[in-house]
Amino acid sequence: MIQVSGLRKLYGDTVALDGVDLHVREGEIYGVLGESGAGKSTLLRCVNLLERPTAGTVTVAGQELTALTERELNRARRRIGMIHQHFALLSSRTVAGNVAFPLEVMGVPRAERRRRVAELLDLVGLGGRGGDHPHQLSGGQKQRVGIARALAGDPAVLLSDEATSALDPATTHSILDLLKRLNAELGLTILLITHEMDVVKSVCDSVAIMADGRVRESGRIADLIRTP
Ligand code: ADP
Ligand code: ADP
Repeated sequence: MIQVSGLRKLYGDTVALDGVDLHVREGEIYGVLGESGAGKSTLLRCVNLLERPTAGTVTVAGQELTALTERELNRARRRIGMIHQHFALLSSRTVAGNVAFPLEVMGVPRAERRRRVAELLDLVGLGGRGGDHPHQLSGGQKQRVGIARALAGDPAVLLSDEATSALDPATTHSILDLLKRLNAELGLTILLITHEMDVVKSVCDSVAIMADGRVRESGRIADLIRTP
């Protein structure tokens, strides 16, 4: 579902990615684990081409994104949802307005938008909260809005940028449970980056361990992590 080959990214003299290969299968939850500065967020931004890699290719759902023009990319990115550590919600818009935002950009008609927003809010456990503003919500609820918004375009893959790092352990658990449920029920492929081994252990099928812009080890969790 996601194929990354020979990915390099330089920022001036800094080598952020030094030849990364990654293969995420359809329907799996794939974790990229590493310490700060390892290159995880650069990798994630290169997967949806928010950042142009210096070299290498990225293919998502059969489409080679690195070969597309900016215009073609805008369309292709609809199939890629993303959630963020600090939620990235629009504070002036309601919960429903945040979830509706990508639908508005896609030109989805108003009635269809309303129906779809209600459906998405139900899916993430926020039915009836559409009229609230983000400041009225807890951190976990804000992330649920972020997830609903990310799913608005019916994406093939969800990218998660440290989505639980700003949350307490109980809330982290409930958000990870939601991601697991979406993975199981919708068949959603998820690529997540994290610096927490516990996150990888509790939700991921496969993992790549990164350091200094390279993948040091990768494979199925069951093969890599043996718990006594
Ligand atoms: P991680 O997400 O694992 O913490 P990053 O991808 O943020 O790692 O960073 C990898 C390396 O690339 C670091 O050395 C970082 O300083 C550098 N880097 C990341 N983004 C930029 C940028 N926009 N400009 C310059 N250097 C950057
Ligand atoms: P904003 O003022 O932030 O633009 P709106 O109230 O205009 O928010 O709603 C934005 C979008 O969300 C619209 O597409 C609307 O159809 C939809 N919407 C608004 N309220 C609800 C709700 N309670 N449930 C579902 N969809 C809603």
